[in-house]
Amino acid sequence: MNNFSYHNTTAIHFGEGQIAAIAGSIPKDKKVLVTYGGGSIKGNGVYDQVVTALKEHNWDEFSGIEPNPQYDTLMKAVERIRQEGFDYLLAVGGGSVVDGTKFIAAAVNFEGEEAWDILAKQAEIKSALPLGCIMTLPATGSETNAGAVVTRGTNKLAFGNPLVRPQFAVLDPQTTLSLSERQTSNGVVDAFVHVMEQYLTYPANAKIQDRFAEGILLTLVEEGPKLINDLQNMEARTNVMWAATQALSGLIGVGVPQDWATHMIGHELTGNFGVDHGRSLTIVLPAIMQVCREEKKAKLLQYAERVWNITEGSEDERIDAVIEQTKQFFSAMNTPVSLTEISLGQDDVDTAMVSLEAHGMTKLGENGSIDLARSRLILETAL
Ligand code: NAP
Ligand code: FE
Repeated sequence: MNNFSYHNTTAIHFGEGQIAAIAGSIPKDKKVLVTYGGGSIKGNGVYDQVVTALKEHNWDEFSGIEPNPQYDTLMKAVERIRQEGFDYLLAVGGGSVVDGTKFIAAAVNFEGEEAWDILAKQAEIKSALPLGCIMTLPATGSETNAGAVVTRGTNKLAFGNPLVRPQFAVLDPQTTLSLSERQTSNGVVDAFVHVMEQYLTYPANAKIQDRFAEGILLTLVEEGPKLINDLQNMEARTNVMWAATQALSGLIGVGVPQDWATHMIGHELTGNFGVDHGRSLTIVLPAIMQVCREEKKAKLLQYAERVWNITEGSEDERIDAVIEQTKQFFSAMNTPVSLTEISLGQDDVDTAMVSLEAHGMTKLGENGSIDLARSRLILETAL
């Protein structure tokens, strides 16, 4: 296991009715800007709960943060904050709203030339506005982590900084009952792939991290299909919500190598073709398992045995079987496992490769061994 320092500072209020807890979590002397997306929170009663909880606070709102939050939209919020002097942000919605709000928090006091440099040049952030969040879509783990992904045109880029980690996160599984089947399945597979990015690497003698990771994977494998069959299953909603948070809170990733190639290649599919984030991942991951099967062999075999109970056959047969099993799980979640399934072809691989190169994604994976040629092979394997 590698050395690590671990400090997750996000307070979590989990369970039904916990939106009320924001009243005590946000200091009363702050001027709060509530940020949200396209209005799902108005349809499912979350907005009304926020209004009730903030009745003693000074607050206003900024809406319209879109899925895959757009830089230009976020900069409008930044302008408003600078003009009107808000000093606390409350993000209410899915990962896009939380990510977008993290970027807003960092951009308000950014001293460099253009706030886009936070993403494009990984420019240093010296301060950020404090923020809290109410997460309504279990998927990204953004509610307790320090990362965010922002899009500008076809460029979808990530940044991370502890200064933008939410001070608190409200996780009320009741708020997720209004998610469509597609949003629900996208969330389950995103969380699943987050675990795989930190688990399916090379062995690092990290027994606890491995067992945590396998526990989350098993939970998602068991509860995900239950939800697809019954979107109102509260037990499944509850367990999926906590699983998604734990998948990317940082805990399972301490002291271990991390991959993230599936996400980086997936971002090009979203940036160029508008593929939903979760669905970009279910297309890319099986191809990465295939192309990187030698370097990931030990972990693929462990994953096969502990998550899917695959113990029979030669090593190669077990690896083939577990790649197939993973695809079947994604198919059971109604997510695609090939580019063809979403009507993308060879020309689109070429397009994605151009932007992958432009974004400097030339040494991906836990070993830095996925160069452009291997990324192309991965995308072609995914055809
Ligand atoms: P999302 O883009 O935040 O939301 C997708 C859709 O779901 C939106 O239209 C939203 O509607 C709706 N929605 C949210 N909550 C709902 C609810 N309870 N009921 C009904 N509809 C609801 O989806 P996401 O998967 O959470 O976030 C994806 C983004 O996060 C991507 O940009 C991805 O790259 C990024 N990401 C971040 C991290 C990280 O660590 N920070 C990790 C992985 C991915 P409204 O707009 O109307 O609310
Ligand atoms: Fe993700």
